[in-house]
Amino acid sequence: VVFGPAPDEATLLERLHSVFGFRAFRGVQQQVLDRVLSGQSTLAVMPTGAGKSLTYQLPATMVDGTCVVISPLIALMHDQLRSAEANGIRAATLTSADENRAETVARLRAGELDLLYVAPERASQSHFRELLGQCRIALFAIDEAHCVSEWGHDFRPDYRLLRPLMELFPGVPRLALTATADAHTRSDILAQLGIPEEGMIVAGFDRPNIRYVIGAREGLTQQLRRLLAANPGPGIIYAPTRAATERLAEALSDGKREVRAYHAGLPPEVRAANQSAFVASEDMVMCATVAFGMGIDKPDVRFVAHAGLPKSIEAYYQETGRAGRDGDPASAHLFWGADDFARARMRVQEVDEARQQGERARLSALGALVETAGCRRAILLRHFGESPPETCGNCDNCLEPPKSVDATVTAQKYLSAVARTRQMYGAGYVESILTGQSSERANSQGHDTLSVFGIVEGEEAALLKPVQRALLVRGALLPTEHGGLMLGPEARTYLKGELSLDLVLPPKRERGRGR
Ligand code: ADP
Ligand code: ZN
Repeated sequence: VVFGPAPDEATLLERLHSVFGFRAFRGVQQQVLDRVLSGQSTLAVMPTGAGKSLTYQLPATMVDGTCVVISPLIALMHDQLRSAEANGIRAATLTSADENRAETVARLRAGELDLLYVAPERASQSHFRELLGQCRIALFAIDEAHCVSEWGHDFRPDYRLLRPLMELFPGVPRLALTATADAHTRSDILAQLGIPEEGMIVAGFDRPNIRYVIGAREGLTQQLRRLLAANPGPGIIYAPTRAATERLAEALSDGKREVRAYHAGLPPEVRAANQSAFVASEDMVMCATVAFGMGIDKPDVRFVAHAGLPKSIEAYYQETGRAGRDGDPASAHLFWGADDFARARMRVQEVDEARQQGERARLSALGALVETAGCRRAILLRHFGESPPETCGNCDNCLEPPKSVDATVTAQKYLSAVARTRQMYGAGYVESILTGQSSERANSQGHDTLSVFGIVEGEEAALLKPVQRALLVRGALLPTEHGGLMLGPEARTYLKGELSLDLVLPPKRERGRGR
């Protein structure tokens, strides 16, 4: 393939209109197209919904030869195929699920395909390499390119096979696409896929119409009921497990507003019915696992709530990004618990050592997001490499700045109480020792004679729960297998006074306002 200078703007716009019916490019689309159409390899980092597919679909209709698209999920591939074909693009998928493989291969050989969607594992198959060698390949588009990086949240070893394949086609440019990449993952993608540094184009990530609200989980069902009362319009509540989606759907159904559950374990016809009811509805609430929302075109989702900690900042951004695609005001609510962090920390220990560092970094980034007294949006945008203003005016902390108190001394008392009671007891018992509540258990263990017995008095007692939460988030406390608390690797720095603990106290708005 010979790429010349990219076509001029008028030509591109004309093409955009004739193929897709759109009148203008969005965000960085044109920048990406300019590079791709002049044959330069590129990494485009664009948020979900920013229109990544167009950046390879449009070139595919303009250059001589086929654009090979690598995509990790067969289901997504088939969605993409349908929408490409609806725009009159000559496209096909080549997967084990397709029965028309022979026909696809024939069309490819005959140069009758603009787009060929394949899964990454195909790259390692020698007959696939040979097949591509017999065809005219114009472009390699690598969708969900963060899958190539162990730093990414979704590493797929098969993505590592792409580079050797693409190297057999030295003149063919590569276009890597991702919505989700921190600085580390991005440079890894460039390195792993052989894309020059100047080839990276990052779109703006801000979603100014989304209001971010983050708080601790304290009586989740009540919190969600209040949320639903305050937020009419369609909404999604993400729950961590299938069972939890069903439990919440039932608990939140009040006979007026429709609340349904959605997860991969439901019969396909129920899932399909719930999904299309949601898409058509103006006030339905869907309690779902995070798979829900991918590939669903519903621009007027008014809120997204997380009933538990998301997997990463990227996942949080992507999931909350399903709200307010129409540009009208929308909100994102996260209810987190210290146990989310505790569980995630345990899981980190189970993954390969090579990935642990990345997993820890992901957790501490989440910790910083949920615990900040500052602007949530600023934290999100900085995470994606932008330099946002200090305040946004449209997140909980900007709208109602929380108080923060120095709780270092309380934290030290807490950690000593855990140590003195031999790291065996749960939060309730530790609190009872600190606040000096005699009990048979305390007396029989002699805990009522410890120096920490009753050293927390008055108002300070109200800090104990948030302190415990903060210590768990920071890895200074760890859960034991039996539901107790033990000291974590960070405990010493607090006990020795090397680190202080500033505690963010949310405004009273949430408390004591039961219905
Ligand atoms: P992504 O893959 O980045 O999440 P998509 O490629 O699925 O996003 O595009 C999201 C939506 O935006 C699609 O409905 C697409 O048709 C639409 N879209 C993309 N580019 C434009 C544009 N330039 N003008 C109008 N709509 C666009
Ligand atoms: Zn803000």
